[in-house]
Amino acid sequence: MKASIDEDLCTACELCVDTCPEVFEMGDDVAVVKVDVVPADAEDDTREAAESCPAECINIEE
Ligand code: SF4
Repeated sequence: MKASIDEDLCTACELCVDTCPEVFEMGDDVAVVKVDVVPADAEDDTREAAESCPAECINIEE
């Protein structure tokens, strides 16, 4: 699984970082994905972060 963030839409609310710190972190202005491939044990939390993102700007490639 891969995850990406549409930086133009991210509001830097930090919810994804709280939900799945293994995959998301705050960059200078917006959240960023810090892994190339999502670790298997973080996939559920990554999906939850994507579903919970208020800006709906987290994209997942299964
Ligand atoms: S949850 Fe969405 S809007 Fe909030 S910081 Fe993460 S990517 Fe940005």
